[in-house]
Amino acid sequence: MMTTAFLGLGAMGSPMAAHMAARSRESGVSTLVWNRTFGKAEAHAAQHGSRATPLVETGQADLIVSCLPTSAEVDEVLGQLRGHLKAGSVWVDCTSGHPDAAPRQRERLQEQGVAFLDAPVSGGVTAAQSGTLTVMVGGPDAEIETVRPHLAFAGTLIRVGDTGAGFAVKAVNNALLAVNLWAAGEGLAILGLHGVNLSAALDVINASSGRSNTTQNLIPQRVLTREFPATFGLGLLAKDAGIALDMVESVRGSAPVIAQVTALYRAAARIVGPQEDHTAALKLVEQMNGTVLA
Ligand code: NDP
Repeated sequence: MMTTAFLGLGAMGSPMAAHMAARSRESGVSTLVWNRTFGKAEAHAAQHGSRATPLVETGQADLIVSCLPTSAEVDEVLGQLRGHLKAGSVWVDCTSGHPDAAPRQRERLQEQGVAFLDAPVSGGVTAAQSGTLTVMVGGPDAEIETVRPHLAFAGTLIRVGDTGAGFAVKAVNNALLAVNLWAAGEGLAILGLHGVNLSAALDVINASSGRSNTTQNLIPQRVLTREFPATFGLGLLAKDAGIALDMVESVRGSAPVIAQVTALYRAAARIVGPQEDHTAALKLVEQMNGTVLA
């Protein structure tokens, strides 16, 4: 019987761990949960039947899943668990991490007899809640197949290559999100200044070739409503664009749009606030154009 542990009960981790807890309960075991602010782990246990434990106890699980802001926090936690991990176990990191960190983390864990898979997720809080996240995994097939049945938050799980490939695909996916969101914001700002009704413009764009998830969902639901619900931090999206830019540089590629959008999101995170929802980046587009997308 595989015992599981989940580290990091944030906007994504909390619902992901709830799905793992529900699945492991079917075989009569509790999923161990740990969070830096420990009260959140206790609240998770009370609500979802997981078991809140000190960090070092999670090291005894056969499968550890982490979902932290960046690879830096994963490195910190890895350090704290050194000497407490169980040989033969697997660590699945669902953080949107850095491709350069993955081989280092894998090596560090291998020294302790532990396997490592980079397995970031896509779909946001909604898909985390419904257990339909897309998981992109880097690492050996055999290790992936061992853990696949236990990743109860996954709707689709695709192996995208060797260690680090999962983080790489995630960074590029989110760079595309950043580009689409920013470009749609600029387009709508200009249309608004031309006196066009933005809802009507979106109806047309969404039936035309300029559409994307940002025009179909994010902008109508979060920007035009002025709600900007903070489910995915602007600082986290700026981080993801920055990882994509690091990748461009490490392969000596040419991707000026990714470079530009990284600079814009870093500025937006500084000016609008890193904790604001990522869609609030368009408040900077609004400031640049002296208009409001409403
Ligand atoms: P949140 O900010 O909601 O949660 C962050 C979690 O990390 C919290 O549990 C927090 O603990 C913990 N944490 C922060 N710093 C440390 C530290 N130094 N040591 C230990 N734990 C720490 O983030 P999300 O859940 O939104 O994002 C998590 C990851 O998932 C990120 O890599 C993000 O890019 C990615 N992601 C997010 C999506 C989203 O829609 N939100 C979608 C897809 C991927 P505490 O409670 O104590 O603050």
